[in-house]
Amino acid sequence: MTACCPTCKKPIALDPSNQFRPFCSERCSILDLGAWADEKYKVPVAVQETESVNQNADDEE
Ligand SMILES: [Zn+2]
Repeated sequence: MTACCPTCKKPIALDPSNQFRPFCSERCSILDLGAWADEKYKVPVAVQETESVNQNADDEE
């Protein structure tokens, strides 16, 4: 059974000896985790921007 690394699309072996599966390497594993965390952090940032807009509206009143 073969699969492709989700990060670099390189064919990998789904073998117990591949400790980084479904990635081909530790580097690809970290890169994918970083991309996922990046998506996650976009939500709190968007909330903070909304709060600061509300604070500005208060200042104008
Ligand atoms: Zn890879």
